[in-house]
Amino acid sequence: MAVPRVRIYTLGCKVNQCDSEEIARSLAARGYEVGARGDSADIFIVNTCTVTATADAKARKLIRRLARAHPEATLIATGCIAESDPHALLELPGVTAVIPNSRKLQIADFLPELQAPMFPKTYLPSRTRSFLKIQDGCDHRCAYCAVPDARGRPMSKPFKRVLEAIASLADTGAKEIVLCGIRLGAYGADRGDKNLADVLRSLRKIGIPRVRLSSIEPMDLDEAILEEIADHPTLCHHLHLPVQSGDDGVLAAMGRGYSTADFVTLVSRIRRAWPDVALTTDVMVGFPGETDAQFERTLSFIREMAFTRLHVFPYSPRPGTPAADHPDQVAAKSRKSRADRMLALAEELSSTAASEWVGTPVSVLVEEKGRDKLLAVHTPHYFRVHFPGSDDTIGRIVTVTPTCAESSDLYADR
Ligand code: SF4
Repeated sequence: MAVPRVRIYTLGCKVNQCDSEEIARSLAARGYEVGARGDSADIFIVNTCTVTATADAKARKLIRRLARAHPEATLIATGCIAESDPHALLELPGVTAVIPNSRKLQIADFLPELQAPMFPKTYLPSRTRSFLKIQDGCDHRCAYCAVPDARGRPMSKPFKRVLEAIASLADTGAKEIVLCGIRLGAYGADRGDKNLADVLRSLRKIGIPRVRLSSIEPMDLDEAILEEIADHPTLCHHLHLPVQSGDDGVLAAMGRGYSTADFVTLVSRIRRAWPDVALTTDVMVGFPGETDAQFERTLSFIREMAFTRLHVFPYSPRPGTPAADHPDQVAAKSRKSRADRMLALAEELSSTAASEWVGTPVSVLVEEKGRDKLLAVHTPHYFRVHFPGSDDTIGRIVTVTPTCAESSDLYADR
């Protein structure tokens, strides 16, 4: 009997990536042959994201494509859409099952007929970057966001279990650990126990060369975390701080809980601690009621903050959120043109930031074979570098000197 082959497709945020890794590990432990992506498999799992209507559409398109190409395969949909709109997924032709987001980590339990403990374990944990989810859920309820309904209230992994997971990743030779959470900076608040600063402190003593934080909401980046990161020996000097808007009226309408002045203060404190920090962000354009003047203020603010990378989201209404019922929706055409202008700024900022690294030797973790037979890496500041090299460097930390920048990507001869 052949080993059942599973392919997992992950859409959306790093928390979803963490979840997919956990699903992969649990399936591998039961004998399935698990690979990240691929053209043929017996079971396909699509871990969906519902952050925008575009994300929804992308998930539906992928599921349709898989169903068409693999009519014999078992096709499982899970993730945030499975929570927010399971019927939409069930109605798609070819979908075998929809597993609620809250139960996706037990997918292996839902495939009993395919369980075969005698199969060899063929899933190889990443030799390079490992994602560790330590927190899930959110109760902040930003006016546009469906995540609180999709993922539920904040829940932190107990500190002891986090330490065990870190130790086991260190034992398997992990070179980089990415701490993930929907509200990573609020880790521990629901338990009233240890916080993110404690987790980071514990990582000082463990032999994992690199630590990264996936994303931190600005309102969660408190004094304790700032103090801890200031001289952390292994933490990458890259922070993803979703700002969403650069206009105080829009931020208030979104219910974000900070003003542009608060954000500026926060960024200057981070830059005092890490003068070389690379800051990346999410920005939403066309939020209901956003005027042309407010959008222009956001453009200027994003430029002033000198982010090194932007994720641009044109607003799309999520049913059940307050913003979806806002009477003053921005016309689709304006949302699109604002998104285009913001994307042009994103390109300009990331190209400028990348070009500043040309000629500077940088130590990088070799992650994978990239395009055109080059190896691909992310620098500690989260710039992508491509360079020639052999596969046996994958999983090792090497030094490369970028010789040129193309858009936001760097190239090196090594
Ligand atoms: S903080 Fe706001 S945007 Fe982030 S998950 Fe919570 S509700 Fe959504």
